[in-house]
Amino acid sequence: MIIVMKPDATKKDIDHVLERIESVGLKGVLLQGTSRNVIAVIGDERVVPADFWDVLPGVEKSVPILAPYKLASKEGKDFKTVIHLGNGKKIGGEQIAVIAGPCAIESKEQIVEIAKRVRDAGATALRGGAFKPRSNPYTFQGLQEEGLVHLARAREASGLPIVTEVLTPEHVKLVSKYSDILQVGTRNMQNFLLLRAVGEAGKPVILKRGMSATIEEFLLAAEYILAQNNPNVILCERGIRTFETFTRFTLSLSIVPQLKEMTHLPIIVDPSHGTGKRSLVNPMCKGAVAVGADGLLVETHPDPERSFVDGPQTINLEAFECLMQELKPVAEAVGRRM
Ligand code: PEP
Ligand code: MN
Repeated sequence: MIIVMKPDATKKDIDHVLERIESVGLKGVLLQGTSRNVIAVIGDERVVPADFWDVLPGVEKSVPILAPYKLASKEGKDFKTVIHLGNGKKIGGEQIAVIAGPCAIESKEQIVEIAKRVRDAGATALRGGAFKPRSNPYTFQGLQEEGLVHLARAREASGLPIVTEVLTPEHVKLVSKYSDILQVGTRNMQNFLLLRAVGEAGKPVILKRGMSATIEEFLLAAEYILAQNNPNVILCERGIRTFETFTRFTLSLSIVPQLKEMTHLPIIVDPSHGTGKRSLVNPMCKGAVAVGADGLLVETHPDPERSFVDGPQTINLEAFECLMQELKPVAEAVGRRM
């Protein structure tokens, strides 16, 4: 259920409602809007009569939320979530956010060079993996904390906010010390302890869709983070497993307009992992923007052939620059900008 506060409700009214919610053993999450505030009530609401909330000072009405993902649902919040990154950049605004960088951080020189080049081409943020979730335990596992230090150095050199994956709840503190945005990978989408931990860390989180997750499971995973009072969740479609093996995964672009009907959270698309093929990255980026994605995640490397990880799906810096130019008319055609 959500409690819609009157436009002139005071902070005291809001605090009072939050206290009442807690006093009956439920949890209240305040969703601040531009014209009014709403409070989501989480837990078994049957502990109080349905009209219990409507008579509290400052309350306009209470509305049941039918979806199981209460905080992610548009039923509770009908305006888009916009995530503000430190440098004035946003994810979920009119401008398409582009997160670019290598699959893995390989050296300080590599990540600093990429950072400057993708920034000059118009990227919003820099990505790079330091803790790599590799299917094969004998392959490169990432530079770990040394990689985070290089990534932070690349932020200093470029001014771009940084994104990196966190693999375990134990690493959340360490990764948060360096990274502006935490990424939860496809293999961890239903690692509920990790979801809680990144929720508590309070930093924006990119939540990648589990490769076999349904849309409802995806939104319920986001709900774990939101329920920790962390409203800054970015959903990322990165391809799912189907019978088709010609591409590495099947990039499900229809999820973008579908999610827009269901949630206020921003949605970005990762055509690099979604296809596994360099030649498909540019057209699928255009497709993603055309269907309403708020952003893109693109693996980019100066020499993809020599990339330690995911070379076949990685584009080079020239191709990235070209992509950014070619996306402009597509974004404009759907009322967005690069
Ligand atoms: C990545 O972004 O480098 C990554 C490992 O992604 P995913 O979790 O989608 O495979
Ligand atoms: Mn990768």
